[in-house]
Amino acid sequence: MNSLVNLLDYDRAALGQFFVELGEKAFRADQVVQWIHQQGLMDFDAMSNLSKALRQRLKETAEIRLPEIVWEQAAADGTRKWLLRLDSGNCIETVYIPETNRGTLCVSSQVGCALDCQFCATAQQGFNRNLTTAEIISQVMIARDALRDEPRERVITNVVMMGMGEPLLNFDNVVKAANLMMDDLAYGLSKRRVTLSTAGVVPALRRLKQVCDLSLAVSIHAPNNELRDQIVPLNKKYPIEELVAACREYMEGHTHRSITWEYVMLDGVNDLPEHARQLAKLLRGIPSKINLIPFNPFPGTKYQRSPDEAIYRFQTILMEAGYTTTIRRTRGEDIDAACGQLAGRVMDRTKRRLRAQQEAANA
Ligand code: SAH
Repeated sequence: MNSLVNLLDYDRAALGQFFVELGEKAFRADQVVQWIHQQGLMDFDAMSNLSKALRQRLKETAEIRLPEIVWEQAAADGTRKWLLRLDSGNCIETVYIPETNRGTLCVSSQVGCALDCQFCATAQQGFNRNLTTAEIISQVMIARDALRDEPRERVITNVVMMGMGEPLLNFDNVVKAANLMMDDLAYGLSKRRVTLSTAGVVPALRRLKQVCDLSLAVSIHAPNNELRDQIVPLNKKYPIEELVAACREYMEGHTHRSITWEYVMLDGVNDLPEHARQLAKLLRGIPSKINLIPFNPFPGTKYQRSPDEAIYRFQTILMEAGYTTTIRRTRGEDIDAACGQLAGRVMDRTKRRLRAQQEAANA
């Protein structure tokens, strides 16, 4: 069994603790975080400001281990997707989306997802396990490394935890990874550029405010309990009024920021003018941006994307009520990298590959 600790599991505070336990000074963590996360260095011997003895000690007790890149794909629009294999043999996906003034990396927080949102491909594969901090931050390391030779505008300026999984159900590991994303000695992203997207785990949302200051996106998707119970089953546990109240609290003392509300547009389900009016009423007084997401279909889904006219009509009602409302452009569709499409077909592919291997072996 591998008894080495993976240093990628530590944020700077935890790494400081690790060094103290080794009998070293906590500031060693500053140096090592910089080597690993700023320089992308994987080799203890090259950490020239550590003593030889300490480097030796690190080699004996620790490692810097990334998941394996199974494959990488690039879409016609510049979107890139990586399939990463974890120690357990499971795979996760990470997507990079270049835009005019920014480059957004969409990272996963769990293998699969337990929430069972009816319109999401990830839900269909069920829940497998939480990602470790190392597995979350590795997605940033791997993408940054892969983008190294790209033109300057193709860098990671934003990270969104909007890939597979519910980040607030993997609280501690997600917070440590977010700390690294925002640490000036690591990735140095500002708190406005690191976004956690949640379907609304209310107690964890309250805790988040105490421990980690980042931007929040909330997958609201419906303006009332009756509808939300159907499409986001978590709503039965934490009903919409509790969620909205927790979001209001989250924003207290944050006058400069807003919550992004995500709303997937499902034809004939949640896209009627009355839904837009209810939503406008529900969010009144909260600094908000609303992001309408045209539904991305996947095999076996019962839903269809709302027609453009329905999306524009919905947008107009919200704008007239005073909300900044954008429509998310679908990106990377040709490589199944769009919202809600992650991993659905990967499972298929994996099985297909296994079948092909078995057939080859039997031939
Ligand atoms: N569990 C978190 C993060 C993962 S989902 C959350 O619920 O926010 C990230 C975003 O993709 C969510 O807003 C989700 O509603 C959206 N999404 C999921 N499936 C989709 C689909 N098929 N089409 C469009 N957006 C989808």
